[in-house]
Amino acid sequence: MIDPSDRLRVTRDEAQALAARLLGDMEAVAAAREGANVDDEHDPEGSTIAYERSQLDAVRRSALDRAGDAEAALARLADGTFGRCERCSARIGEARLEARPTARLCIDCAS
Ligand SMILES: [Zn+2]
Repeated sequence: MIDPSDRLRVTRDEAQALAARLLGDMEAVAAAREGANVDDEHDPEGSTIAYERSQLDAVRRSALDRAGDAEAALARLADGTFGRCERCSARIGEARLEARPTARLCIDCAS
């Protein structure tokens, strides 16, 4: 039985740090926009900033998802359900868990 706890903690911590940094970037973008006092609808610069902000938010959300997946996998390790498929309860293959320790489904249910 592999123990991916350390890897999962690193994944979670890195993803959370990235999300926090992106939030800071988004605030900086928002502050820059306020300073420039641009009109989103009529100023082409404004829509660029809005776009940039939504891109940052998308990356931030996927980082938060990764952190959540890693956290959930750590919880499964703690309660002994790690490595069990959530749908059919079969054992998830070691190779799959090795490649993707946050996997919730066995290869059959996932495909
Ligand atoms: Zn399954």
